[in-house]
Amino acid sequence: RGTLYVVATPIGNLGDLTPRAAEVLRRVRAVAAEDTRRTLQLFAHLGAPAPQLLALPAFDERGRLGPVLARLAAGEEVALCTDAGTPGVSDPGQQLVAAAWEAGARVVPLPGPCAAVTALVASGLPSDRFFVQGFLPRKGGGRAEALALLRQLPATLVIYEAGNRTPETLSDLAAALGDRPAAVARELTKLHEELARGTLRELAERFAAGARGEVTLVVAGAAQGTPAEEPAPEPLEDALRRRMA
Ligand code: SAM
Repeated sequence: RGTLYVVATPIGNLGDLTPRAAEVLRRVRAVAAEDTRRTLQLFAHLGAPAPQLLALPAFDERGRLGPVLARLAAGEEVALCTDAGTPGVSDPGQQLVAAAWEAGARVVPLPGPCAAVTALVASGLPSDRFFVQGFLPRKGGGRAEALALLRQLPATLVIYEAGNRTPETLSDLAAALGDRPAAVARELTKLHEELARGTLRELAERFAAGARGEVTLVVAGAAQGTPAEEPAPEPLEDALRRRMA
């Protein structure tokens, strides 16, 4: 039976590729890759010839499963890599892993970098219980709904965001959740890594001009036992409407 290796790759610093990941990538004859060009760069770094690359883009993961499953059915070893970090975490991969299970293949995870966990542990906020939101919906009802759900959760919140949208999202979080303690983790593991702590409003002000590069936000959870009573400083809909006006 075939084997699917779920391989975490660096989120910036190539030194974070684990020896085990390197060994598996050198050995497999096929890699399912979110973006084949990015994965080619990783093989260039390894100084290894690239194996057969099978595209598994986020926008059409289901439609591209066929060739990967065919190799697993033939008893081959296939590695799954996304552009950065752990496959399946706000990245393609989950559908392939589910299909691999269904097809009777062996699934072997190779742990490694993940921006959510890296930002969480650097934030100093409680890490005993946390919720990875991934990206918030960009606007409208979906965004308001997601924020309303986050407001209730008695767990530290981890949110992915693009640098230029960071100030807007920090302000929306402050309006919806209250001015909670938070952290901004920017360009983790890279040359210009920056970690900043403060309340959501302080951070919104500090990054008012935008934050360059990749950003992960960490926000304190609802105080345990009081989420329902904790008043938002202004009704969420008003805040969102004000920003969209
Ligand atoms: N699967 C990835 C992981 O395990 O970290 C996450 C992929 S998601 C498409 C990309 C988002 O992760 C970015 O928009 C940013 O929010 C966060 N991210 C990735 N690399 C980062 C870094 N070096 N520093 C801070 N955040 C990062």
